[in-house]
Amino acid sequence: MMVSSPTGLVDFHCHLDLYPDFESAVEQRERDGLFTLTVTTTPKAWPHNRDITEATRHVRSALGLHPQLVDKYSHEISLWKEYLPQTRYIGEVGLDAGPRFYKSFEKQKEVFAQILSACALSGGKILSIHSVRSSKIVLDMIESRLPSTRGRVVLHWFTGTPSEAKKAVELGCYFSINPTMLNKNRGRKLVQSLPIVRVLTETDGPFTGEIIAQDGTTAVLNTVAGMAQLFGKEEEEMRTAVIANLRSLLQ
Ligand code: MN
Repeated sequence: MMVSSPTGLVDFHCHLDLYPDFESAVEQRERDGLFTLTVTTTPKAWPHNRDITEATRHVRSALGLHPQLVDKYSHEISLWKEYLPQTRYIGEVGLDAGPRFYKSFEKQKEVFAQILSACALSGGKILSIHSVRSSKIVLDMIESRLPSTRGRVVLHWFTGTPSEAKKAVELGCYFSINPTMLNKNRGRKLVQSLPIVRVLTETDGPFTGEIIAQDGTTAVLNTVAGMAQLFGKEEEEMRTAVIANLRSLLQ
């Protein structure tokens, strides 16, 4: 598939359906040629997202069941499975062991295990995965349930240790980087340790620590600039690298 993006920018994880005007956000990204993966948080949101992005050139929507919502919506896994054949893109899915969500962690693992196995069975899916305070378990589950020949993983807002990042690279994972990650030394160090061929950009708008405008462009440009510095590249080279990575991911 050709990825045509006149501005050469990528937002591989955001929530356009949570902006006040979903449709205008999609239209703006279409006009700007910003390649966008808009993720969903429950399968109930899928049909509307699918319909709005069906005929778009640059915007794709993903089928999700967010780990932070699993406590309430784990029963929607059956609906998630029903919609699975309708899309190549899966997200937001994963695990969250932060203090607010730890009480549902066992349930989250059950749901995520089913998601990974269903993706492995279908084959050809691309997943945007959340792994707050759970990088090790997320990677172990990917390793045991989703061989790289059966699906591709993009770790969204990854905050694992250097050795976990290394393992993720070995498993074939990509990493989508947002501006908030680059605000901290730890995040910058992590990004710097990644192979340049595995990095993408994202905004996670509207949820990132900073306010992300619905068009996403400024946030992505700032991220590209920050990443260029970390990798010792010109901004233009970094943009080209991200687009090349997107192409190889989607290939
Ligand atoms: Mn998100």
